[in-house]
Amino acid sequence: RLVAPQAVTPNEESIERALRPRALEEYVGQQRVRDQLQIFIAAARNRQESLDHVLLFGPPGLGKTTLAHIIAHEMGVNLRQTSGPVLERPGDLAALLTNLERNDVLFIDEIHRLSPVVEEILYPALEDFQIDILIGEGPAARSVKLDLQPFTLVGATTRAGMLTNPLRDRFGIVSRLEFYTPEELTRIATRSAGLLQVPITPDGASEVARRARGTPRIANRLLRRVRDYAQVKADGTIDATVANAALSMLEVDPQGLDLMDRKLLEAIVHKFDGGPVGVDSLAAAIGEERDTIEDVIEPYLIQHGYLQRTPRGRMATQTTWRHLGLTPPKASAS
Ligand code: ADP
Repeated sequence: RLVAPQAVTPNEESIERALRPRALEEYVGQQRVRDQLQIFIAAARNRQESLDHVLLFGPPGLGKTTLAHIIAHEMGVNLRQTSGPVLERPGDLAALLTNLERNDVLFIDEIHRLSPVVEEILYPALEDFQIDILIGEGPAARSVKLDLQPFTLVGATTRAGMLTNPLRDRFGIVSRLEFYTPEELTRIATRSAGLLQVPITPDGASEVARRARGTPRIANRLLRRVRDYAQVKADGTIDATVANAALSMLEVDPQGLDLMDRKLLEAIVHKFDGGPVGVDSLAAAIGEERDTIEDVIEPYLIQHGYLQRTPRGRMATQTTWRHLGLTPPKASAS
């Protein structure tokens, strides 16, 4: 999926790394989060202490991983990276924790998917920089306390609501990342084009930005596809005409909705009369995972007024009907 906010291939991951801003200064948008972090990081550095644990939440592709790297960079420490589903056993996490150096950053992506036994280990580690590990088996087993270096946990999640309360309570800094404005995405696209050494006009950048679903990862991905088009079909420069032609070819519409968005909206309108329809029925109708709908597709559609979440299910709005070229029924959600 072109507009899928996750990185899909190893190749894309390496390009993403290359495009990733390294310092807080270069990080575009998210002003509130940036201002807060700047102060907290400066204070922690001043006291030569580890930064408080940070929880970042928001839809995929908005810059949570990037921010974790920036925090480590600004703190002048190492970053160790893992993710909730990868940490299967308590020992996996213990090994990571005991290898941390003073004030290092441990980044756990998809932290809402930690298993309960692994989460247990994390509590004392976060609170007192200590872990309890079990040595031996059966009646001879005993628990040993190990001291850790002070460290900062940066946790990222698409859904803060899925975190257990004890885990959420242990984060001193909780930041929600928002979708980016077209202006911010224009700056990101222009910056990325510079790094990729692709000539781009301001209109070309804003055309890419407008269709990027509020998401930097998507802006960068569209930019690379448009670059290919510009090289093959034009003189290599991305201007508004080239961007428009390339994005239409890729079936990203002027509002940035892609095939999957339209498939979901069309299903609600055509198969469920505009809703309300439960998310599971919707998932079955379009052959997508429920999680993908909730984490990836829906947030942008809801924020931009294409979808309403009601207690009885999802409903298409008048904007949706019109977007699909249809007349909204009188009773549809506004
Ligand atoms: P997440 O972890 O939230 O899924 P990432 O941090 O991996 O998202 O960001 C995806 C890509 O988007 C990165 O490679 C980076 O180049 C770009 N990006 C994200 N946020 C910003 C930003 N604020 N400024 C510039 N580029 C950004």
